[in-house]
Amino acid sequence: MQATAEISQSALSHNLSLVRDLCDESGVVSMIKADAYGHQLALITPIINDSDFLAVSELSEAKKLREKTKKPILLLSGVYSQEELQSATNLGCHIVVHEKQQISLMMSAKVSTNVWIKIDTGMHRLGLLANEYHQSIEFFKTNPLINIECVMSHFACADEIDNPMNKTQLNEFNQLTDNSVKRSMANSATILSNKEALFDFVRPGIMLYGISPFGQDDKTLKPVMQLSAPIVSIKTIQTGESVGYGATWTAEKETIIAIIGIGYGDGYPRHAKNGTPVCINNELCPLIGRVSMDLICVDISNIKADVGDIAILWGNDKISAETVAAYSNTIGYELVTGLSSRVRFTQTA
Ligand SMILES: *Cc1c(COP(=O)(O)O)cnc(C)c1O
Repeated sequence: MQATAEISQSALSHNLSLVRDLCDESGVVSMIKADAYGHQLALITPIINDSDFLAVSELSEAKKLREKTKKPILLLSGVYSQEELQSATNLGCHIVVHEKQQISLMMSAKVSTNVWIKIDTGMHRLGLLANEYHQSIEFFKTNPLINIECVMSHFACADEIDNPMNKTQLNEFNQLTDNSVKRSMANSATILSNKEALFDFVRPGIMLYGISPFGQDDKTLKPVMQLSAPIVSIKTIQTGESVGYGATWTAEKETIIAIIGIGYGDGYPRHAKNGTPVCINNELCPLIGRVSMDLICVDISNIKADVGDIAILWGNDKISAETVAAYSNTIGYELVTGLSSRVRFTQTA
């Protein structure tokens, strides 16, 4: 009766080769933060083996990843204390410096250390401002233990291809840097839309997992996670009868409903609207009523289905995480990273 997330190894390989095809001059830094966007580190071996770099957000993630691979690890949050600096260098991490306080901390490194300087080109989240960046370069040059491996920045609106901010940020980046350093700007949306911003390293995340950053299905990507759950009950209800908490959906005619063993306690979005498609026996059926913690209800009047049949919530060619996200007022990223420990994860070819 458990919900299951199957992680496709061939889809991971396909999506990574697509990145290689689109960016044949650039090194690939695969983003595997947040337990590989919820796909689980243990189940994404093709990405771990075939990327040039692996990037995580936090030291705790770098520690877990180091147990699995000798590949270079990029630590996106950087370090905030001597202890963290030492742990990160012991793990052999490349360390991002994005905050001015981190500059002097890096200067105290006792062993040779690879640094990625992150600059703020307009997103105003992480990154050194222009003057801080120039200062950091001056400081780091005086320390033979510090190697500036790359200068990076991040787009605020890469998923909106025509947003003028993309051009503004790219201009700013090109003004602050030149090809005397290695550079990196591109996330998935940029890789898929802007050849001028690929530089020396690209940083694909969501596209590796087969989800489009643009929120619509992209047939060149293969979905990696297929989320499914069994039908646990079927019943017929009559005109005027309602379904679920709050009785928010009422039958306008005799309706056959299937109750499926997944809910927001597993990570299926509670805000999924009436009509969100669910795939059963290769047909799409509409979600009806509110999503509850352990269960959802689906109108199966138009299809053949039995208790025990498997419903696919997202990740086959009929129903994508992007579609479910659109029906739930969120993004595919949030859905895949949000599955709970109750979901059983397995690996498929
Ligand atoms: C997560 C992340 C990415 C990847 O973004 P996607 O939209 O998932 O491709 C790239 N760069 C940085 C700095 C990130 O934190």
